[in-house]
Amino acid sequence: MSDTGKLPILDHFIDGKRTAGAGNRFGDIHDPAGGQVQAHVPFATPAEVDAAVQAASTALPAWSRTPPSQRARILFRYRDLLESHRDELARLCASEHGKTLDDARGSVTRGIEIVEFACGIPQLLKGEINENVAGGVDSYSLRQPLGVCVGITPFNFPAMVPMWMYPIALACGNTFVLKPSEKDPSCGLRLAELAVEAGIPAGVLNVVNGDKETVDALLNHPDVAAVSFVGSTPIAEYVHRTGTAAGKRVQALGGAKNHLVVMPDADMEQVTDALIGAAYGSAGERCMAVSVAVAVGEDTADALIDRLKPRVESLKIGPFDGEGVEMGPLVTKEHRDKVKGYVDSGVAEGADLVVDGRQVKVPGHEEGFFIGGCILDRVTPQMKVYKEEIFGPVLSVVRAKDYEEAVRLVNEHELGNGAAIFTRDGDAARDFTHRVEIGMVGVNVPIPVPTAYYSFGGWKRSLFGDHSMHGPEGVRFFTRLKTVTSRWPSGIREGAVFNFKRSTEA
Ligand code: NAD
Repeated sequence: MSDTGKLPILDHFIDGKRTAGAGNRFGDIHDPAGGQVQAHVPFATPAEVDAAVQAASTALPAWSRTPPSQRARILFRYRDLLESHRDELARLCASEHGKTLDDARGSVTRGIEIVEFACGIPQLLKGEINENVAGGVDSYSLRQPLGVCVGITPFNFPAMVPMWMYPIALACGNTFVLKPSEKDPSCGLRLAELAVEAGIPAGVLNVVNGDKETVDALLNHPDVAAVSFVGSTPIAEYVHRTGTAAGKRVQALGGAKNHLVVMPDADMEQVTDALIGAAYGSAGERCMAVSVAVAVGEDTADALIDRLKPRVESLKIGPFDGEGVEMGPLVTKEHRDKVKGYVDSGVAEGADLVVDGRQVKVPGHEEGFFIGGCILDRVTPQMKVYKEEIFGPVLSVVRAKDYEEAVRLVNEHELGNGAAIFTRDGDAARDFTHRVEIGMVGVNVPIPVPTAYYSFGGWKRSLFGDHSMHGPEGVRFFTRLKTVTSRWPSGIREGAVFNFKRSTEA
């Protein structure tokens, strides 16, 4: 990091070292609680992108030949190093994003769990073998790395989402170029620095900062084999389209509108606790946040609003490191104003604003990007607040007349990341899990984030491409399958074969 005497300027991380940006375009990194710019981030030029991809290409032959057990040993060291830097990483993440320290710590832990999963790579790469598929012929399959892989990540999990990608990519023998969000890039840089400290060779993991221009240079670079993306749906669709047109393997995870269905028999205390965490945790800036509560029946809806209202009104809002703070600010002023605009539009379209957090001010942090928790009741599927992802601490309550209507709502929404049902009825829960067109489903669990050894991904317009992230799907995405059929000279000789008939067939 350089300091011009004014504000610090971040670097890129290329070929094992921090590298000052050579371009003339920069982004602002804010202190979301104070409102001021705290640093600048350089936007990589196509030449800098090329330097990072070249570093990754140069490192590829040796890294991909390194035995998986040796790669795993280095990842074990990396895991320990991350563990001992957990608080530092959490603070970096929270200071640029705005989420509370506790929340940031939790997200770093989830990232470390992916590294732990990746440490099992010798086992994960095991193929299959069949002896004697024909006279003297054996067949076996193996998975090989793709080459230089790219990760493009969103602002809301600056440590965890990059760690969904590169630990598995590296474990599989690929090299990597990460393009973190330009809003909070410091975590990505530190993660790469720690990787080198752990023994990951220079060039295996690189970081370039930037915006669309940088992303486009990566998507069109001839030496990039695969692109892993997480972000909003329009950009996910764009990255998938552009990357696949350039011949790359692409997985692109997009936005979400997660519904939580509250059945009349649900434990309302449990539902209320669940919604407070799931709708307002991380100020709603989570792709697994619950943004719609579907209450089945008027009585259920009334009981839910009665319980939620005082809890949302009393949420403790403040800076990431404030004592007892439950909810921080949003990431930028533009984003905070956009979220406020959604609440305005909900009111204009006829929803009941039961809790209005739009005017919340935090003493001593008047310029911070804060908004209080909001509840909109009697939201209908025609409203903009229902159709679009808000990505803020705003919960819409939709009143459904019965269970069938609740399921229909979930299935008819274009986004399909997560959904949950709260009920004591096993039949309803089982029917729900089978019928919803959703990638990740919770039963009395509001945020059903799959653990590291399962895979994370939505359906419909929440995921473009064929692979979810991490877990077994991560290994599949970052490798390609090869099947070998072999015979040795001592086997049965059958002369030239001109058709597909096997020598064992009559
Ligand atoms: P975003 O789409 O604005 O940005 C994501 C990445 O794309 C960033 O690195 C950004 O620099 C880049 N980008 C932005 N505009 C671009 C353009 N026009 N062309 C090329 N690249 C571009 O998303 P965000 O605001 O950083 O993150 C929030 C979004 O991410 C939400 O929609 C959220 O639901 C989604 N998200 C999804 C998941 C998931 O697993 N499905 C997880 C986390 C976040």
